[in-house]
Amino acid sequence: FSAEEEAVLEQIEEQNVDFLRLQFTDILGTVKNVSVPASQAEKAFEEGIYFDGSSIDGFVRIQESDMRLEPDPSTFAVLPWRKTEESAAARLICDVMDTSSGEPFSGDPRGVLKRAIERAEELGYDINAAPEPEFFLFEEDEDGHATTKTNDAGGYFDLAPKDLASDVRRDIIYGLESMGFDIEASHHEVAEGQHEINFTYDDALSTADNVATFRSVVRAIAAEHELHATFMPKPIPRINGSGMHTHISLFQNGENAFHDDDDEFNLSETAKQFTAGILEHAPAITAVTNPTVNSYKRLVPGYEAPVYVAWSDRNRSALIRKPAARVPAASRIEARFPDPSCNPYLAFAALIHAGLDGIEKGLDCPAPVRENIYEFDEAKREEYGIETLPSNLGEAVDALEEDEVVANALGEHVYEKFVEAKRSEFKDYLVDVSQWELDRYLEKF
Ligand code: GLN
Ligand code: MG
Ligand code: MG
Repeated sequence: FSAEEEAVLEQIEEQNVDFLRLQFTDILGTVKNVSVPASQAEKAFEEGIYFDGSSIDGFVRIQESDMRLEPDPSTFAVLPWRKTEESAAARLICDVMDTSSGEPFSGDPRGVLKRAIERAEELGYDINAAPEPEFFLFEEDEDGHATTKTNDAGGYFDLAPKDLASDVRRDIIYGLESMGFDIEASHHEVAEGQHEINFTYDDALSTADNVATFRSVVRAIAAEHELHATFMPKPIPRINGSGMHTHISLFQNGENAFHDDDDEFNLSETAKQFTAGILEHAPAITAVTNPTVNSYKRLVPGYEAPVYVAWSDRNRSALIRKPAARVPAASRIEARFPDPSCNPYLAFAALIHAGLDGIEKGLDCPAPVRENIYEFDEAKREEYGIETLPSNLGEAVDALEEDEVVANALGEHVYEKFVEAKRSEFKDYLVDVSQWELDRYLEKF
């Protein structure tokens, strides 16, 4: 065993771990589990654990369904809500391998992100990422089902007693910390019942693992308080939705390749080309970073979510913002369009490939837009050359189908399954009749 694997085996003994949850995500970003007794740990490291991939969304057909999970020992963590003195459950995040070729399975989202990171490495870059996932806490009804009733009426950075959820948030933070998260801040967000917890940046792969973990921990600990945590992008109409702003920087030989002391915005040419790449491919990326019908209810003017394809060093209506940085190492860009319903592995892969495309092609970055773009009319947007994001999931998938760079970012297998799943989701939505329509038309006509 490697030193890292040895350390995991020791931890299993020390913390009385009796079950190991081997985790991976399907194409839609749902965390999947295969639970094995801790006695299987050595075998899991030596030969992997075999499972039937045909029952996983977007994986494989029945006749080619044998997959193997290879646990990544660096992801070992005891699950805080499953721990007692005598026993504990721990998780390991896994890579999915194709048993017939012995190669990484091309449908594994974690593998898709690994390929994006490798491409950056070939160009000499390490990628750091930090997300800001927002979520709502809702009360449950008598049957334990989620409602959209918030359990507090706090607002941005409000303190208790209005912020009733601060106890829950504290427990969530303890849980995250016990799993190795380094929490930087947590606050009540703008909307009632809405929260945000920020954790330290890390390499892109660890950060994507962290997002998947974060969502499970938040939901599990909220449930202990009889609350339902949701990462649905826009659960309540006409107030702010939940985004997942994603901060990205590229490092080269330990130095921040996004920083330039002499630039007006402290952004290097590399950072600007990377930004230009994301702007160029934004409509197609949206299909991946904002992958639900509901995502597009968030991307409307007036609720601090971006709608227009532009970057800014100031205003928050832009798609990409350059946050103020105290030290050169902190120079970065913030993509403000992703939302927390995305598969973080695929979302980061799409952003990285688009940005690298900007660097490889040496794309020109447009000038920043400092005014509030929500207030621009069409003529003014045209004058500034500002495009609009897709306004629904169907348009986003159309854009994805027309964008080779983003399609290739996903790889053929994931791309095909993803487009198929999203087309069908959108079609299902189109044939539905919403409450809004009934309220508006039923008695009028
Ligand atoms: N909730 C907003 C969004 O949808 C962001 C608000 C904020 O972080 N200031 O992106
Ligand atoms: Mg926020
Ligand atoms: Mg932010």
